[in-house]
Amino acid sequence: MKELRPLLLLIEDDPQFRLLLATTLENQDYRVLATETGREGLIIARNRQPHLLILDMGLPDIDGQDVIRRLRKWSELPIIVLSARNQETDITQALDNGADDYLTKPFSNAELMSRIKAMLRRVAQLPGGTLEVFQVGELKIELTKRRIFMAGHEVHLTPIEFRLLCELVRNAGFVVTHRQLLEKIWGASYVEHSHYLRIYMGQLRHKIESDPTRPRYLLTEAGIGYRLYEEDEA
Ligand code: CA
Repeated sequence: MKELRPLLLLIEDDPQFRLLLATTLENQDYRVLATETGREGLIIARNRQPHLLILDMGLPDIDGQDVIRRLRKWSELPIIVLSARNQETDITQALDNGADDYLTKPFSNAELMSRIKAMLRRVAQLPGGTLEVFQVGELKIELTKRRIFMAGHEVHLTPIEFRLLCELVRNAGFVVTHRQLLEKIWGASYVEHSHYLRIYMGQLRHKIESDPTRPRYLLTEAGIGYRLYEEDEA
């Protein structure tokens, strides 16, 4: 069943790092297509239809943001962005442009593998899209019945808190940017009103977290957005 092994596209201009990553991924039984330029990457994405793109942001020809923007005009290929440290605006922009997740260099192989696995798992689950119950740790969310339970006790949320939580559940394990949340819940004209988000996220944490100052489920991605904790099933 060799053809069923997931096909990954890697766009990374650093030759040593590209070789290292490609070898690591092949050892994990992924098929890998690797290239150093954004332009060639886009051509490969179109011709070979990989299952996942791992994209370095700093490329010699067109930059990572351009790759994402161009790709998103015709493709829903999942994208994990590799970014240098302390480039939060880059990451935020990449996610807003349509990237699905990110890793900050340096990262461990284990971290990369777990993100790839999570992403491929999520994509495999997408077509149905009929998630009725989401459960992680002591948190249980009955999406269709609109009921939330924490350690067996029902938690009552306002409609906005519920929508906010649902948006994070839909992306469980992945970061959702401030802008994406504001746009989705309050509308496009509210994307600058990040204080709304802070207030509602605070309320949500008070209702769900046993220690809201040290959240276990509603995680902050500093300067970028929020991520709902999801246990690694693998
Ligand atoms: Ca680079």
